[in-house]
Amino acid sequence: MSNVFYRSAKSYPVAVRAEGVFLWDDAGRRYLDGSSGALVANVGHGRAEVARAIAEQAGRLAFAHGSQFSSDVLEEYAGRLARFLGLPSHRLWAVSGGSEANESAIKLARQYHVERGEPGRYRVVTRVPSYHGASLGALAASGMGARRELYTPLMRQEAWPKLARPDPALSGEADAERLRAVLEAAGPETVAAFLCEPVVGASDAALAPNPGYHTRAAEICREYGVLLIADEVMCGMGRCGAPLAVRLGDSGGGEAVTPDLVVLGKGLAAGYAPLAGVMASAEVYGAVMDGSGAFKHGFTYAGHPVSVAAGRAVLDLLEREGLVAAARERGAQLLAGLQDLQARHPQVLEARGHGLLLGLVLGDPATGEAYPVPGVAERVAHAAKARGLLTYPGSGALDGTRGDHLLLGPPLSISEGEVSQMLELLDGALDEAH
Ligand code: PMP
Repeated sequence: MSNVFYRSAKSYPVAVRAEGVFLWDDAGRRYLDGSSGALVANVGHGRAEVARAIAEQAGRLAFAHGSQFSSDVLEEYAGRLARFLGLPSHRLWAVSGGSEANESAIKLARQYHVERGEPGRYRVVTRVPSYHGASLGALAASGMGARRELYTPLMRQEAWPKLARPDPALSGEADAERLRAVLEAAGPETVAAFLCEPVVGASDAALAPNPGYHTRAAEICREYGVLLIADEVMCGMGRCGAPLAVRLGDSGGGEAVTPDLVVLGKGLAAGYAPLAGVMASAEVYGAVMDGSGAFKHGFTYAGHPVSVAAGRAVLDLLEREGLVAAARERGAQLLAGLQDLQARHPQVLEARGHGLLLGLVLGDPATGEAYPVPGVAERVAHAAKARGLLTYPGSGALDGTRGDHLLLGPPLSISEGEVSQMLELLDGALDEAH
């Protein structure tokens, strides 16, 4: 018998090794990691450079408590990360996971308003569907019914006004204008922040608003004194083919959005160590430090030097190997292949996304309806796994919002041949699951 508390009562293969885009289990089976362990392993598995950086840091300075020290590695990394993201005056608050990072961002937004004499601004507007984390605050912020309902009495749902999902039928500007109505209904003087995923990940299969959305949303936030928080835990760090997904609309020279707070995780240390963080603008940092003088919040492992060393080594690889541009190129290849699959498999209703954060919306081929068809994505993912391809299934149907979907996002280091291999395996899985 195993003493491991599994997430569900099915059997799990035991992973023993990983390299590049592949993982192996203890029976010697190989899997192509088509969703990067849920969009984490951006630089690929088994990178000796990162392993060496972790070992070197652990041997030199494994830990110093964040209430008493910064560290040389954190000082250097924060500056490099800020420049990589194009946020040169933002400051890094480093934590261990995306949920912690969103909790930190929400608390920072609330403290910002308290310091400025507006303690009544406590609410956070978020979108349905969305996912911001598993801790109670981040989960309350999330628009994901299936994960929330067990805990609803603790979460004061009414304190989290919700905006509908991005609407691809609207121009980005018209879509963002809907935020104004939600703020007016909530009472803008009660709202601390608008928190959104620029490209929606696990809860809606790589759904992005049209260009112009974030620029207009930022303008509306400013007009109402509301902070803009971009949750880039999944879509950031180059995954979508740009350092910051909130600036994707920039390709036409347009969207130079600067969120007050940017939340990062997953790809930050690419799975080599637990690392996430919040990048806070100089204005937010200044309000807190000029006010009561301290961010009244903390985690023991905030800014852990070993995690930060892993993050720095990952950033080295992203830059040295041009992986942000690679995400655009391989992403275009994968998206074209997914569109081809859509043409041949009637249960694929849509293929979409940016860079290497891509999604397939699955539905009923008879009606063309994307909802509700629970179980389709699970079936396709199961068939794919049996063929040696890992994908990330999700079901909006459980939330009463969207159909089933599969999220696809291999490591940004994937080769052209490996993308073709992924598409072949997926083709077979779709045939089998039909
Ligand atoms: N925000 C987003 C957009 C996410 O995708 C996730 C994780 N799927 C989180 C936050 C939570 O991150 P973590 O699981 O590291 O706590």
